[in-house]
Amino acid sequence: MAHRHVTIALKEATRSQCRFRVGAVLVKGGRILGRSCNRRRNSARTDFRHATFHAEEMLMRSIDAPRRSEVYVARLSSTGAPMLARPCPRCQHLLVSCGVTLAHYTTSTGTTGTVHLADSNRRR
Ligand SMILES: [Zn+2]
Repeated sequence: MAHRHVTIALKEATRSQCRFRVGAVLVKGGRILGRSCNRRRNSARTDFRHATFHAEEMLMRSIDAPRRSEVYVARLSSTGAPMLARPCPRCQHLLVSCGVTLAHYTTSTGTTGTVHLADSNRRR
């Protein structure tokens, strides 16, 4: 868990125009390969749940993730404090299919959590 990458994900979140500001950074071997924040979708016809592109989704659209890479996901409150940013099931599924094996995320208590994506989605 590299604090530097969490800081960069938080900084990326400040660029978001969404009500819930989330930033995501793709890392492999300590090297930053890409960064994205969540974005509003243009169409008002999309249903509410999917009214934004999640930061992880924007990230996977912007770059081809190498195998066994990691993402750092950070969410900011309106006052700029870190919030829980655990990737939703849809994003976890997307990240696994793109080759990402670990997702680190901020929490509201200032700590970070980790999801082992390959483990929770292992198929026999
Ligand atoms: Zn998501």
